[in-house]
Amino acid sequence: MRATRIDQKREGRPVVLVRLQQGANLRRRYIAQIPRWRQPLIGYFFSFPFVAMALIFALLMNMMLPHFYFPGAPMLLAIVLVAFIWGVGPALLSVILSTLVLDYFFIPPGEQLSLRSWDSGVQILPFFLIGIIVAIISGQREAARRRALFAELALKEYADELEETNQELKEVNQMKDKFISMASHELKTPITTIRGQAQITLRRLSRQKELPKELADVPHALEQIDEQTLRLNALVDDLLDLGSIRAGKMQLHLSRFDLCEACQSAVEEQRLLSGRDIELEQPETPVMLNADSDRLSQVVTNLVNNASKYSPETSPIKVSLQMQEKTTQLAVQDYGRGISKEQQTLIFETFYRSPDAQTSKKSGWGLGLAICKDIVERHGGRIWCESSVGEGSMFIVELPRG
Ligand code: ADP
Repeated sequence: MRATRIDQKREGRPVVLVRLQQGANLRRRYIAQIPRWRQPLIGYFFSFPFVAMALIFALLMNMMLPHFYFPGAPMLLAIVLVAFIWGVGPALLSVILSTLVLDYFFIPPGEQLSLRSWDSGVQILPFFLIGIIVAIISGQREAARRRALFAELALKEYADELEETNQELKEVNQMKDKFISMASHELKTPITTIRGQAQITLRRLSRQKELPKELADVPHALEQIDEQTLRLNALVDDLLDLGSIRAGKMQLHLSRFDLCEACQSAVEEQRLLSGRDIELEQPETPVMLNADSDRLSQVVTNLVNNASKYSPETSPIKVSLQMQEKTTQLAVQDYGRGISKEQQTLIFETFYRSPDAQTSKKSGWGLGLAICKDIVERHGGRIWCESSVGEGSMFIVELPRG
């Protein structure tokens, strides 16, 4: 159930009325949480015996000590005790009772119960004022405790609300992830079929010596379909990967393989696809790893693909593989627009694309680097970027040797 806020809604009622009601509610809640024996009603009841005991004590003192000048002192003690235990209401009652008792027993006869007479009033006034001050102080203590309780309750309710909202957000997020994953699965088959059909038709047409005039544009259209479905396919693959990363289900299929070979074939593929000059520098001896070769090839492909996407077509791209004492380092260097310091960590977040990338014609979804990061980290490695704006970027992957 959703928690009700302490500061209830106004619903058109005057502010003063709302405040009063809030105060009353708070007081009721405050009283409800203090022990039964400290409830004000019990305090009103106990004010009588407390004042009576103070009176008996004062009378005894009066009899025993010939010069007992402070009959008000035991009364004040009673008031302080009542105020301390039961609060302002019972304390005020004790003040009134004590004042009457003092007036009746200790003001010389003839002026008894005549508080309005000047002499009696002046004699009792200081006692009465001190009693009232004690009651006010206890009232302030009570108000402070009520405010603390209010703050505590409000905090608890906000925390509950936050927890509930958090839970709802998590559920919505899980639903979204589930939807993306289901939709991606469903899209995979039709995309593959469309691409397959386009490629078959393209092959058939290419076998024709000459095409009728009205079919002349068809090969180009089919090539475009092939190209776009390839992009769609890559996106769907990324979305499926993202789904498994989020659900913690991305599995690594470990095997022993040579990273040099994997880099070579990934770079070769990218050379063919982009037509770019991609340098590959690697040790002459194999770099054997116990890892998921497909996933690591995916990382190399992604980094090289980004390098060619975000740098001028005429600039070179360098891929280098180096063995360190405990690690293997793969670096992909380009001489493109570079990445600012602030963006160097953001680019590894899902769906992040730099403003430059967003305004450029280069298509993308900001998923590739997030997936690379997850793959590398699952292998116990790390990935980072070193770059200066205008000079290019270098993406470095460090993997433990094994
Ligand atoms: P995508 O390339 O699909 O947008 P990525 O996750 O691969 O997604 O990259 C995220 C962002 O990082 C890119 O949008 C781009 O802004 C930036 N980026 C990645 N590689 C480079 C690079 N080599 N040079 C400059 N910017 C890059």
